[in-house]
Formats: sequence, C-alpha cells, structure tokens
Amino acid sequence: MKTGICKLCGNQRDLIGKSHIIPNFMYTDILDDQHRMLLQPLKEDRQSARYLQTGFFEKNMLCEHCDNVIIGTLERYAAGVLYGNPIKDKPIVKKAMSSDGMRFLTLEKIDYTKLKLFVLSVLWRAHISKNKFVSKIDIAANEEEIRDKLLSGNAGSEDDFMISLLAIKDRQEGMVRLLPDPEVKKLGAGSFATFFIGGIVYFIDLKPKSDFEMFRHFPLQQTGQTRIPILSGEMVNAFLTAFGLPAKVADYFTNRKDL
Ligand SMILES: [Zn+2]
Repeated sequence: MKTGICKLCGNQRDLIGKSHIIPNFMYTDILDDQHRMLLQPLKEDRQSARYLQTGFFEKNMLCEHCDNVIIGTLERYAAGVLYGNPIKDKPIVKKAMSSDGMRFLTLEKIDYTKLKLFVLSVLWRAHISKNKFVSKIDIAANEEEIRDKLLSGNAGSEDDFMISLLAIKDRQEGMVRLLPDPEVKKLGAGSFATFFIGGIVYFIDLKPKSDFEMFRHFPLQQTGQTRIPILSGEMVNAFLTAFGLPAKVADYFTNRKDL
C-alpha cells in the first residue's frame, strides 16, 4: 500500500490502490453479455461507440476510511434506493401520470442526506479523477464546498447544489443502456453537471446556479420526496438528441434502426 495524502480527508494515510469513480452497481445493468459496456461519446459523430471492459477506477485517491466508510455508506444506500439492492428503510415508490400523459415515479421517505451526498460524491470523484472518461467534469470552483459536505455528512438545504433525476426508457420499456461521458453544461448565468448512466440521468446544479428547469420542477427535497419523470417514445429521441448524442444513437433507441 502506498502512503500519501487522502484527497477527501486530507490526512496522510495508507491509500487504497483502486477506488471506484463510478460505482459498479450503477452500470452493471448496461453490461452486454460479454460484460462490456457501451460507451457513447457525445457530439462526435465520426467517433463510434466503443466498449469498455473494466470499470472506472482511480489509484491512490482515498484512504480506507474515506473509501469504505464515508463513501461506502452512501453507495450502499443509493444501490438500495435506485438499483433495488436490499436495504432497510426503502423509500416508498409509486407510479403516477399527469393529466397530459407524462409518467413519473414518486419517491417518499428517501434519506435526503445520504442520497444527495451519494450523487455529490460521484461528481466529486469524477472531478478528482484523471480518467479520460470524466475529463469534462471540472468543478474546481465548487470542489472544496462539496468535499466539505462529504466529510461533515451535512448535505445542506435542497437549493444548495440541487439534484434532479430523470429516467429514460427505450422502445421496449427497458432502460436506455447508454453511458455517455459526463459533462458540465452552461445554462443561463451558471452551470450544472450531468451523469447519464444506464437510463438514469443525474443532474446537479452548480454555483453559480443554472436556469435549468428540471431543478425547479423535480428537485430532490429535504422532506425526503422527489418525482422522477420517465421519458419514453418520441420524447426520448428529442431528449437524446438535445443531450448531445448522435442522431443515429437516438434513432436506435426509439425507431428500431440499427446502430
Ligand atoms: Zn481519507
């Protein structure tokens, strides 16, 4: 084991050889039968999708306590809430539909602190990591504040780094099995970060705040509630294209065209 400064707690410690940047449970669903996952680069039509056989790791980033206890606790909770792993205290999940036919999942009794800090921890790890896949995640202006939240276990109020989630279904009602590279998008006076992992899109508002509508309509609330819109059909094609994915990829998931 190598000794060095842990990026999270800042202490001189033995460092973990391999820390996950994006936890395995977030994308095991999008591995193909050879356990590879489809990576789809954004806005680069000529560069075709490729497969990656190993996960996303960073060497010598965290000490054992920060990796296994601080981040590990958040990961175990998120795996239960979002990916169906067994946990105590599951949230209450209901399906709902608005008058204009939009489908939602409504979640109640979420542990706001744990879920929010989990999402922030993925953002923070992506920022720290030198892995090329997360090279578009640069949140230097917000890094210290997010690191402080992770260390103190205080997620702050809901309008402090607002979180929204979105679910995207393909033409067969499965999750859209894509993993585009995460990025920071500018909107209005500020910006927000997006992670699109296996059909769930995570939006994190940064500082200065963006004008992105999702945060106003579908915030993760301190009361432990949130609404997750479910996109399907033609909406998916429009969303994927607007998100920056090549048209042929959007068509593949919505119009039965081959990649
Ligand atoms: Zn540490």
